Amino acid sequence: MKCRVCRGPAVIDLPRHNAHFCTEHFLRLCRDQVTKAIERFSMLQPGERVLVAVSGGKDSLALWDLLLDLGYDVDGLYLGLGIGDYSDESGTFARAFAAERGLRLVEVDLRGDLGLDVPTAARATKRVPCSACGMSKRHLFDQAARDGGYDVLATGHNLDDEAAVLFGNTLRWDTEYLARQLPVLPERHGFPRKVKPLVRLTERETAAYCVLRGIDYQVEECPMAVGNKHLGYKDALNAVEATSPGAKAAFYFGFLERAAPLFVPQSAAEQGELQPCASCGAPTTSDVCAFCRLADKARVHPPVPVPAPRSRRRSGDGRPVAR
Ligand code: SF4
Ligand code: ZN
Repeated sequence: MKCRVCRGPAVIDLPRHNAHFCTEHFLRLCRDQVTKAIERFSMLQPGERVLVAVSGGKDSLALWDLLLDLGYDVDGLYLGLGIGDYSDESGTFARAFAAERGLRLVEVDLRGDLGLDVPTAARATKRVPCSACGMSKRHLFDQAARDGGYDVLATGHNLDDEAAVLFGNTLRWDTEYLARQLPVLPERHGFPRKVKPLVRLTERETAAYCVLRGIDYQVEECPMAVGNKHLGYKDALNAVEATSPGAKAAFYFGFLERAAPLFVPQSAAEQGELQPCASCGAPTTSDVCAFCRLADKARVHPPVPVPAPRSRRRSGDGRPVAR
C-alpha cells in the first residue's frame, strides 16, 4: 500500500478518494480539506478571534489543532454538561489538550455555574436528552462567544454528522431545518457567526488525524445517546458508503450546491421579532428565552442519576482508522 503523493508506505486508505496516504500526506490532506471548506464558504477571515467548542472528543480537538496549525487565533470553550463520569472524563481531555499547548480554555459548568445538568433538564422538561443538551449548548456557546468578544464560533461537526442530519431532515422534509443546515450561519441579531470547518472530513478521518498527531481524545460515547436517531442515520449512510464510496459527500455537497438555496427565503420569512430575554438578555422571540425556561424547570427538579459511559462505536464505516 503506497501513498498516492510520495509512493512511500501508506498508513490509511481512503476509498472515497480512491487512494492511500502516508502520515505526512494524510495530515496535509486534512489541512487542505479544512482550508478548502473555510475558503469555499467564507468561514473565517485572517485576524478574527475564533472560539472553538471542544467536547474532549476527536472532532473538536482535531478542529482546534487544525485551526491553530492554519494560523488562526483560537481559544477553546468547554461546556460541563453534568453527564456523570462521561462529562468528568471529557473535561480531562479538553483541559489536557489546552494545558499541554499553553492554550486558553474557557469553561462553563452547567451544574456548578447554572445549577442544572443535561439528564435533569431533559427529565424536567420531558425532552429527549439530546434535545435538552443541544438547546443548552447552542445558548451557552452563543453567550460565551458574545461575552468573550469572539468574532466566530467554530464547532467540530464533520461530514458524517452533517450528512446524517441532512438525511433525517430530508426524510421528514423538515424545510425549516433544511434552510438552516449550512456550514456557515452569518452573524445576526446578536448571535455570533457559526462555522463548521470539518464538513469535508469524515469521522474516520478526524479520528485518524488525532491518532497520527498524538492527540488524546475521549473514545467513550455519551450514555445519553441511546435511542438517538442520528446514530441510525449514520449507520444507514455508512452502509451506502461501503458500496458506493463518496456517496455521503455527494449527498451533502449536492444539497449545499443545488438544493439549499431553495430553502433560504422560507427561512428568512420564518424569523419572528426578536427581543432580549427578560432573564439573560439573549435574543428571543418570547419574553423569556427557551434556555432560561428550561433552566428554571431543571433547577427545581431533583437530580436524575446518569448511566455509565458507553463503549466506543465503530468509527465511520468501520474500517481501521490508521495503521
Ligand atoms: Fe448531548 Fe446527546 Fe451528545 Fe450526549 S449524545 S453530548 S446528550 S447531544
Ligand atoms: Zn434567557
